[in-house]
Amino acid sequence: MKEMKDNKFETKCVHGAYRAQSAQPQNMPIIQSTTYRYYNAPDVAALFDLDSPNHMYARLGSPTVDYLEQKMALLESGTAGMSTSSGQAANLIALLNICEAGDHVLSGTNIYGGTYNLFNVTLRRLGLDVEFFDQDMSEEEILKLKRPNTKALFGETLGNPALSVLDIEKFARVANAMKVPLIVDNTLATPALCRPIEYGAHIVTHSTTKFADGHGTSIGGCVVEGGNFDWTVKDDDGNLKYPTMAAPDDSYHGLNFYEKFGQAAFCTRLKAVLVRDLGCTMAPMNAYLTHQGLQTLDVRMERHVKNAEAVAKFLKGHPMVDWIIYPGLEGDKYYDLAKKYMPKGASAVMSFGVKGGRKAGEDFLEHLELCSIVVHVGDIHTSVLHPASTTHRQLSEEAQLAAGIDPGLIRLSVGLENVEDIIADLDQALNKVKL
Ligand code: PLP
Repeated sequence: MKEMKDNKFETKCVHGAYRAQSAQPQNMPIIQSTTYRYYNAPDVAALFDLDSPNHMYARLGSPTVDYLEQKMALLESGTAGMSTSSGQAANLIALLNICEAGDHVLSGTNIYGGTYNLFNVTLRRLGLDVEFFDQDMSEEEILKLKRPNTKALFGETLGNPALSVLDIEKFARVANAMKVPLIVDNTLATPALCRPIEYGAHIVTHSTTKFADGHGTSIGGCVVEGGNFDWTVKDDDGNLKYPTMAAPDDSYHGLNFYEKFGQAAFCTRLKAVLVRDLGCTMAPMNAYLTHQGLQTLDVRMERHVKNAEAVAKFLKGHPMVDWIIYPGLEGDKYYDLAKKYMPKGASAVMSFGVKGGRKAGEDFLEHLELCSIVVHVGDIHTSVLHPASTTHRQLSEEAQLAAGIDPGLIRLSVGLENVEDIIADLDQALNKVKL
C-alpha cells in the first residue's frame, strides 16, 4: 500500500496522520481526557521509561495532539513533530532543548517582535546570549560571528512583519559549517508554500495560530525536526556539544535520547522533558481545530496568495500609498529569493506606508469597514495592524527600525473575501485620509 508520505501535498493535507478504519469516525476524534487507565503497574512503568507510545497524562501528550504532530511533520517533510500551547512556546522550547545558561545563539534581526523580546529579554535574563545580525550579511560575515559556545542559528522564512525572505540554503550552509542546527520559524510561509527542511533546515517551528489554523480559533505552536542533524557533534575541546541529546539523561535512568529515538530524538525530548517540566501543552480541542484548518491549508494558501498579489498591485498603484513591501511583487528587494523558496507565492502578508506617515496610517485604519483591525495575521478575514504602536511597542524606535518596522508601517494580511471587496474597502479608506 502506498505510504501517506508518497502522496502529493494536497492529499497529505486532507488524509495525513489520522486515517479512519472501517466503521470509525471519518473526522479525527477529540480525546478529551486528562488521564489514561491501566490494568497493571508494568504497563505504567513502560510509559515512564519511554518504552511505550501510549499515554498516561495529557500534559505529556494525548492522541488528538499526536495526530496533529504527525500531520505537521508530514507536511513539513520532517521526521517528527511536537505541538505546543503557542508559537512562543515552540520557539522557546526548541532552544531550551539544546541550550543552557552561558550558551550563545545567533538570530536574524527580522523576526516577530514577540520572539525578539523572548530572545532579547527573557532568555538573556536566564543567561542565554542571543546575538542578532543582519540576515542579508554574506556567508563569510555570518561565519565570523561563531563563538565556541554557539549552539543554534535562527531565522524566519518570511520575517513578520518585515517581510524579508530568509536565504535558507545560505543559512543551512553556515549552520553546517558551525556544526549547529538551523531553526527556521515557518509560520508565515506555511509548508504549502515553503518547506525549509527540504532546503537544509534542521528544525522548523510554527505559530499554528496563524495560517495553519487559518480561522482564528486556536492558539498553538509546533516544532518539527528534520532528522538531519548529527547530535553527537563535538565542540572545539572534543566534548559533546549537545549533551541533552546525546549523553545519558539522569531523569530517565541514563537514557540517551539520540541513541534511542534517532530521527525523532529532538521531539521526543521536547515532550519527555521540556513540555513535561514547563507544561506548555496543546489542548486536544485546539489540536482538533488546528487539524481541521490544515485539511484545507493548500487551497486556502492558493487563494490567499492570489488575493494578496492583486491587492499588492492595487496598493502599489494607489496615489495615497508611499511604499509597499511584498516579496511577491516584482521589484521587491526579496522578489528573487521569494521566487526561489516560495515558487507558489509569497504568502499573503504585506506592509505599506500611507502617504502622510504615522498620523495618516492611523487615520486610514479608522476608515476601514470590511477589513478588521486585529493583532493577528494568517486568517480568512483580511486583517490590518499598525505594529509600531501595538505589537512592537515594547521595542525602542532604534530596535523597531533594526527589525524593519518603520513608524508609519501598516501590516496587512489578505484574507479570503472576494478580492474586489477587499480592494474597494482599502480604496475608500485610503481616499478618506486627510493629508
Ligand atoms: N512566530 C511568528 C512568525 C509569529 O508571527 C508569531 C505570532 O504572531 C509567533 C511566532 C508567536 O506565536 P503565538 O502567538 O502563537 O504564540
